[in-house]
Amino acid sequence: MNRSAISLGRILGIPIGVDYSWFLIFALLTWSLATSYFPAEFKDWPVTQYWIVGAVTVIFMFGSVLLHELGHSVVALRYKVPVRSITLFVFGGVAQIGAEPPSAIAEFWIAIAGPITSFALAIFFSLLQPVVSTFAPVLALAKYLAYINGTLGLFNLIPGFPLDGGRVFRAVVWGITKSLNRATLIAANLGRFIAYLFIIFGVWQMFSGNFGNGLWIAFIGWFLESAASSQIRQQTIHDLLEGHHVADAMRRDYTAVLPGTTLEQLVNQHILGNGQRSLVVKQDDRVTGLVTLHNVKAIPASDWSTTTAAQVMIPVTKMKCTWPGAELTDALGEMDRDGVNQLPVMDGYQILGVLGRDDVISFLRTLSEFRRH
Ligand SMILES: [Zn+2]
Repeated sequence: MNRSAISLGRILGIPIGVDYSWFLIFALLTWSLATSYFPAEFKDWPVTQYWIVGAVTVIFMFGSVLLHELGHSVVALRYKVPVRSITLFVFGGVAQIGAEPPSAIAEFWIAIAGPITSFALAIFFSLLQPVVSTFAPVLALAKYLAYINGTLGLFNLIPGFPLDGGRVFRAVVWGITKSLNRATLIAANLGRFIAYLFIIFGVWQMFSGNFGNGLWIAFIGWFLESAASSQIRQQTIHDLLEGHHVADAMRRDYTAVLPGTTLEQLVNQHILGNGQRSLVVKQDDRVTGLVTLHNVKAIPASDWSTTTAAQVMIPVTKMKCTWPGAELTDALGEMDRDGVNQLPVMDGYQILGVLGRDDVISFLRTLSEFRRH
């Protein structure tokens, strides 16, 4: 879960959290409902009633966003796609789906389940209105929630990946082309195009006297554009690396040191001298561990002359490593998950080399050079 989120417990085993920014939105929305939206339609309420109905409505709206995300999650779980967490943000919610969906059909239903939930809520609150028409506070709440859930469903259906509509679109292209990679690229490019339309429309609104709304629309456009661009970048890297293995990019000239080497020697000879960020610890041709810059920095400099590599190293049994035949994209994913910048390439207890992020980057650069010719 996100560090800036407050935990609200679990539903269906999924941790639910609220981003701190949500409290600001809660205050702003309650304020705008209590001071302008409700007074415009429901006259002569006591002031406190506007505020109470406003706050309760915003809490129900929050529940609606949560149900939208749970809609995605329930279908994802049915297709055995793990859901790591749900976090509620300024713009609504994000369900952290753990992996790419197994098929185009699965992606289609997972993506559309959210808007369907929102539309169902909009219908429910519309049908509620005639029932509660004599009780103004509940009528006000039902009217607003019918409107906001309908808007939420429609907004999310905009075919700009990574919005739900963009995912539905990607699922359809995936079904037709049978290629997830191509479908992702096409959907992300459509997403960028739509994001630019938002920005252009927003700026035009800003200059035709509707500054606040225009700014908001342009901001949403900017947000969508950066999400789509980062998707395209990730996909390009994935495409370039596809079919290439760790053995193609790894560095074979790693530096090995003896377990008894002091940190002072390590720092002076290897880290400062050669710019090494990780050193393999070896005894009689057997790898016993790995020392990274991080391990060294954990020890105060005054103790470097008396501390040995063996004392600070990550022992071989706990070392995250890869093997020469592993897919490069998998190795990169592993580094991201473990938060490390390099992986030793092992074959049993034999070390064959080291794969660092920088090695993958220079490999990518070479690959893209070749592509251009
Ligand atoms: Zn959604």
